[in-house]
Amino acid sequence: MGWFGRKDKSTAQSVQSSAAVATAPTPSVRPPVASSSNPERELRIMQLGTEMLDIARQHKSGMLSKQFYQDKIMDWSMKDQNFKVQMFRFVDAFPALTTPEMVHDHLMDYMSQPGVKAPPGMDLALKAGGVAKGLAAKTISGQITGMAKNFIAGTNAADALPMLGKLWKDGIAFSVDLLGEACVSNAEADMYQGKYLDLVENLVGTASGWDGNERLERDHLGVVPRVNVSIKVTSLCALFDPIAPESSIADFMGRARPIFEAAKRNGVLINFDMEQYELKDLTLEAFLQACDTHDFEAGLAMQAYLKSGVEDARRICSWAKRTGRVVTVRLVKGAYWDYETIHAEQEGWPCPVWHEKWQTDQCFEDMVEVFLDACPTKDGEGGVKLALGSHNVRSIGAALAGLDKRDLPREAIELQMLHGMADQLKHAAAEMGLRVREYVPVGEMIPGMAYLVRRLLENTSNESWLKAGFMDDADTATLLADPATLAPAALKQDLVEIAPERHGLSPSDARVGDGKPFYSEPLRDFAEDEQRKAFGATVEKAVVPVVANDRTAEQGGVMLDEAHGAFPAWRDFDPYLRSKVLTLTAQMMRDRRDGLSGIMCKEARKAWREADADVCEAIDFCEYYARLAPSLAEPARLGKFIGELDELWHQPKGVAVVISPWNFPLAICCGMTTAALVTGNTVVVKPAEQTPGIAKVMFEMLSDALKQVGAPDGVLHFCPAPGETTGAALVRDPRVNVIAFTGSKAVGLNIIEAAGVMPEEQSHVKRVVCEMGGKNAIIIDTSADLDEAVLGVRYSAFGFQGQKCSACSRCIVVDPEGPNGPRMKLFLERLGEATKTLVLGEAVDPNSDVTPVIDGEASGNIRRFIDSARSEGLTELVGSKDFPEMKNPDLIPPHIFTGVMESNTIYRQEVFGPVLAVIHAKDFDEALRLANGHAYKLTGGVFTRKPTHIDRAKREFRVGNLYINRGCTGALVGRQPFGGFGMSGVGSKAGGPEYLMQFVDPRACCENTMRRGFAPEL
Ligand SMILES: Cc1cc2nc3c(=O)[nH]c(=O)nc-3n(C[C@H](O)[C@H](O)[C@H](O)COP(=O)(O)OP(=O)(O)OC[C@H]3O[C@@H](n4cnc5c(N)ncnc54)[C@H](O)[C@@H]3O)c2cc1C
Repeated sequence: MGWFGRKDKSTAQSVQSSAAVATAPTPSVRPPVASSSNPERELRIMQLGTEMLDIARQHKSGMLSKQFYQDKIMDWSMKDQNFKVQMFRFVDAFPALTTPEMVHDHLMDYMSQPGVKAPPGMDLALKAGGVAKGLAAKTISGQITGMAKNFIAGTNAADALPMLGKLWKDGIAFSVDLLGEACVSNAEADMYQGKYLDLVENLVGTASGWDGNERLERDHLGVVPRVNVSIKVTSLCALFDPIAPESSIADFMGRARPIFEAAKRNGVLINFDMEQYELKDLTLEAFLQACDTHDFEAGLAMQAYLKSGVEDARRICSWAKRTGRVVTVRLVKGAYWDYETIHAEQEGWPCPVWHEKWQTDQCFEDMVEVFLDACPTKDGEGGVKLALGSHNVRSIGAALAGLDKRDLPREAIELQMLHGMADQLKHAAAEMGLRVREYVPVGEMIPGMAYLVRRLLENTSNESWLKAGFMDDADTATLLADPATLAPAALKQDLVEIAPERHGLSPSDARVGDGKPFYSEPLRDFAEDEQRKAFGATVEKAVVPVVANDRTAEQGGVMLDEAHGAFPAWRDFDPYLRSKVLTLTAQMMRDRRDGLSGIMCKEARKAWREADADVCEAIDFCEYYARLAPSLAEPARLGKFIGELDELWHQPKGVAVVISPWNFPLAICCGMTTAALVTGNTVVVKPAEQTPGIAKVMFEMLSDALKQVGAPDGVLHFCPAPGETTGAALVRDPRVNVIAFTGSKAVGLNIIEAAGVMPEEQSHVKRVVCEMGGKNAIIIDTSADLDEAVLGVRYSAFGFQGQKCSACSRCIVVDPEGPNGPRMKLFLERLGEATKTLVLGEAVDPNSDVTPVIDGEASGNIRRFIDSARSEGLTELVGSKDFPEMKNPDLIPPHIFTGVMESNTIYRQEVFGPVLAVIHAKDFDEALRLANGHAYKLTGGVFTRKPTHIDRAKREFRVGNLYINRGCTGALVGRQPFGGFGMSGVGSKAGGPEYLMQFVDPRACCENTMRRGFAPEL
């Protein structure tokens, strides 16, 4: 099933301030219903809240009160945003730093970033040398470990047991959570299953020996389990992906079933935590299926920061009422607000979370009302028991007032708070007779870091209620204020949120694209049920147009004749109408988006997400070039000299031949064709022999658009034909002015050579725009975040079976302890297992991660490379042995070879298939040398958390497109202009501001504007 959706599932949190994040366009949305603004209710909330605050304030400082904030690091973080960003990044990288030198080195690095001022004391310690240097590292390590210990109860359940016992004694129950690295393989999912089973089977034994506690063990209906375990669905399924809901849930249930059974046997409550929005519906579905098929005490976390919060709450409540099942819902606000906001913006998707804090708070209160209405009041009645996961006394007060209104007792709800936070409130709540439960994470330092950073962010955020209450000492009225009163007046009036404008990326003109700035076409969001189903149905129905590659050189010649004839009229055509051809085509593509993807799934064997991205890129090329082109034709004045008018403008070159590849059969074909057309050249398109069907549809769309603007006949021609004969003849024809080619190095070099031959009758030098290939490397540095690196390398190497010129085919792992060192071993183990988890299958099936390569010739070539690697004695970490045998011979499983040397064939030659060579580097210098040691210079990647290594990579890793801490494929038009140098090609970057210059000739004119000593003013 699709893995691509997981690429952004980064647990490392952004520490970008929310103010810096531009929001994506959202459809008009209603803010939550103002359930409050009822004076009686407000009065009750104020009474209850004040009571809780008063009791809490009498308790002496807890861990996360002033004392925590006054810790030097936190204190300084709160005062200085630059320091906070770098400090939290350092905290994130900290567990990967295994020696005091590394700690010191990285800290120095982070603290010397521009604009960062370390707090006094730390400053001096850092600058110290010798022994003091070691001491500084020790001090900072101690401080970070201490911070982590605030929030994490122990490395494992056994370790945490004394803490859990003490909590119980103090009148506080618990829910244990296993901290985990991103689960990237079946092996890791199996490991988590074992750990959860261990908790469910073994915690009960110890906990049953504790004294009874009526308040903690009974609600208004009966017994509440003592042991409560929180699970994450993604830790029990390595490919929990909404693109393939059935198989995701089946895989999850396979591992979860024994846990539910053990929970039933031992009387343990299993709570499903809620993660990122893209997994929300799938998680809900998994929860409902688990409850429908298994009898166990079940709980689910639901998030109020989601705009869908109230709707989600109603869905669960009506299900519970309908089925007669009783479940617990832990209502939280949500822990991934920054991520959700940034991710939606990057993807161009509607933002799923509220923009304003008061909206989240209001939604929380509205959801409370929905849940309390569904609270079961007698045995045998289905419904939802509410647990509040909040430290906000206003939010808690609202729920308590809701109980009173319904005459429900306090036992009907539970209060849950995080370990290490708001201890005073926990005790106050217990004194008020509430059942209080701590959410207690256990785990190792590395997986704990993402959790720690999330908590640090939460507690240093200006929006945090806890910070306002316990650090800023806000007054009671402010702390307990009704969220509805914080709504801006305009919003309250019409209840419609105005979508903020997104920032465009290229110049716009009112005459192009209705004056809208350019922004990337959003990919399909397969987490949306409707989009996924519509896409699947259309793919199934898609029919690939039958096109014979039978045009001869003679027919190609006739096309060139006509193109040549049409050129003057098209050259002099209104540039804005030329641009309109592209925007009209973009709209036609949008209208038939999924159908185009379906054709590519079938013709080019592209998996769903790959095909969808191809269509989006084609639309982007149209919209982007449409906006860039008109200004080229317009004279631009140079300098300002009185009496002299100096101008520069561009004219098209003439006839262009476009020779496009099969791997991006729509996007690249469309990009090259539209660039030539929009600048005023006439064009003959020869698509790859493997994918003429999709190219024909593109041709028809462009032809239709040309007709709509009244373009002269003969501007665009479609020439499906064999490359060796017709293609070769086209590029050699003297009437051709520009050749735009993307494909193999051999053909590219041949075209460049042929273009240099000048027959007598040719009156111009041909321009060749040529993109050839890559042997792209990703460096895994010592401080890399392996969760991200493993997924980044896996996708870059095996996405579309490695058949992208940007694909990663060399992975360089830095390990100072040698090729068998611990870093190398850990990375390889995780990458290997993660790769074995991929699913092989046909492209039309959304479950497939790896689909057949383009054809038999390609599969034959790739297999020869695999054989060469074996015969050269390389170790096959992952290969055919790890996957079921497939009927389709073109379905080549991913291969990873280790022990690779620079001389090995698969290291030197471009393979264009799912084959990855892993090589060792002893340090970052060697890694850079290896990365640069190839004639191809297309893409490259570095996973590192060391700021100076990021700077060095930018300067010294010489490739066309460098990617840091992400995969090395998937360049976006206008954002990451694409193309390389060296043997990777000649010409400037596709989708970049200079690309169109290759299709035009500049002209300059100098006019003497002086007449008899008189010149117009400037
Ligand atoms: C027991 C427990 C279990 C939890 N389990 C989960 C879980 O499964 N999944 C999960 O996601 N979280 C979970 N959380 C984390 C929880 O989401 C945060 O701790 C919680 O949001 C903090 O809310 P608060 O009411 O305590 O504080 P408050 O300070 O009142 O609220 C802070 C919250 O407001 C929201 N917010 C901040 N800024 C904005 C803004 N500009 N616009 C809109 N909203 C904003 C964010 O959600 C932020 O976390 C859990 C928390 C607890 C206590």
